[in-house]
Amino acid sequence: MNVLIATTNPGKLKEIRPMLAGSPVELATLEAWSALAPPEETGRTFEENARQKARYYSKATGLVTVAEDSGLEIEALDGAPGVESARYGGVDTPYAEKFRLIYEALRAAGFPAGSPARFICALAVADGDRLLFETRGTIEGRLAPAPSGEGGFGYDPIFFYPPFGCTLAEAGDRKSEVSHRARAFRALRQFLETTTIDASLDELGMP
Ligand code: IMP
Repeated sequence: MNVLIATTNPGKLKEIRPMLAGSPVELATLEAWSALAPPEETGRTFEENARQKARYYSKATGLVTVAEDSGLEIEALDGAPGVESARYGGVDTPYAEKFRLIYEALRAAGFPAGSPARFICALAVADGDRLLFETRGTIEGRLAPAPSGEGGFGYDPIFFYPPFGCTLAEAGDRKSEVSHRARAFRALRQFLETTTIDASLDELGMP
């Protein structure tokens, strides 16, 4: 069976492919539907956005679709950038500038750095409007005193992960053992391995 992974973010796709390697589904990506405009992300939570994306792409393609919405929550900034992570400071603003804005906001809030922070990944699977599965993965850490590391993508250079003693951009392959995305996709994998989607639509009881 073909399952669509609905993301155009190359950083995410690079992480997701090995996470589902060997699972009992064939992966399709949005490359084949490049003319399809992305949906607006109007949700106030990661979960709302993940559901919106999964339903939108499933209805547009006719495929069972996995979508995730993810981002960084910084406690000292009341959870910002949160669901606005990709758009913080402007969609096309380079991450170096997003980092500068974050450190500036932290200083204004009286936190030089070190605020507790977490990455969140909300994942939803839809068949048309029907929601088949949902899960959430998180990873807890702290804002690094300054950006560090070249690996990963997005906010990885400013996310310090205490058990590793480095940022996620310095963690190499170890990121894929502990990340919010890894946790969510492990749960997805278990769902895919233990559920016959066609047969169990009516038994899932999802909204
Ligand atoms: P989305 O495409 O609306 O889900 O936006 C997700 C955004 O959150 C990304 O573009 C990054 O800015 C940020 N983000 C999500 N996951 C990660 C990660 O694993 N590392 C760094 N930044 C991330």
